[in-house]
Amino acid sequence: MMKDIVVNMIKIYGLTDRDWMSFKITSKRSITYHHIIKTEDGGKTTIRNGALLTKKAHNLLHCIEYNDLAMYKEINALFQIINKNKCGKEELEQIRFLILKYLDTKEPIPKDIERSYTKKMLLECSNENKFKIYV
Ligand SMILES: [Zn+2]
Repeated sequence: MMKDIVVNMIKIYGLTDRDWMSFKITSKRSITYHHIIKTEDGGKTTIRNGALLTKKAHNLLHCIEYNDLAMYKEINALFQIINKNKCGKEELEQIRFLILKYLDTKEPIPKDIERSYTKKMLLECSNENKFKIYV
């Protein structure tokens, strides 16, 4: 069952084919809620504190947290801007850049993520956006 908050956030932010880390959304059911400010740091399970991530992206994000805390914080700061502005073309691009940077290091990644495939997927997304016209 999808959490109500995820359903509400999909309504507010719209459902594109990518999550907030530019991972392809293959099914609505794969979307999870990420706390931008952690529960243990006083973060609430509210729309304002949430980011929408596929399970795969979410696993990668917490893997980044474990291995590169500074980068994890940077990504969350960008989520906060996207959340506040209800969009974030620039921020999504910066997040892709950070993930690519992480994937280029030899830091560990979750088992269900394929390094070169993920890099290709993110670069494709960057290129697509370069040619899109935003109104
Ligand atoms: Zn999370």
